[in-house]
Amino acid sequence: MEPLPTFKYHPDPVATGSIQQSESPCLGCNRIRGYIYVGPAYSEKFHYLSGSLCPWCIAEGSAAKRFGATFTDTGLMEDVSEAVLEEVGTRTPGFESWQQEQWLTCCEDAAAFLGLAGAAELKSRFTEAIPAVKRCLEDDYDLAGAELEEFFDGLSKDGQPTAYIFRCLHCNRYLAYVDQT
Ligand SMILES: [Zn+2]
Ligand SMILES: [Zn+2]
Repeated sequence: MEPLPTFKYHPDPVATGSIQQSESPCLGCNRIRGYIYVGPAYSEKFHYLSGSLCPWCIAEGSAAKRFGATFTDTGLMEDVSEAVLEEVGTRTPGFESWQQEQWLTCCEDAAAFLGLAGAAELKSRFTEAIPAVKRCLEDDYDLAGAELEEFFDGLSKDGQPTAYIFRCLHCNRYLAYVDQT
């Protein structure tokens, strides 16, 4: 199998679950390439794109162009250039969030998406991201003390609420938001 293309802002889309091994053909290049994108795809005309595009057609921008598709809603991203919005929206695999995905930014650039996390993943793989998650629970969910700890312990990768972990490509700071239905 060919090595996967490099996505600056989504460095390991197989680990995050946005790209899976699959024998499905890609609608863009009509080839079976061993991997398929299973994250969100937004297009006014084509409503069956999720599970039907290969990572190479996403990386090259040909999938976005051919199907008028975007893979992340970049509407809420602040302090980044049009070029960054374009790369995140049309040439980077997106990810599923409960309500509304947010691609976090830092140092005037999009951050790299590292994955979904519950309390277990935060305590094992993403210990350095714990302060960012707790900050989000304080600021966005107005939690403190025992209430915050209880909410934190209830975070789940497969259930909800879920934490979404990012890391700045410049200052290396971890960033996070928490979403639920
Ligand atoms: Zn393709
Ligand atoms: Zn930064």
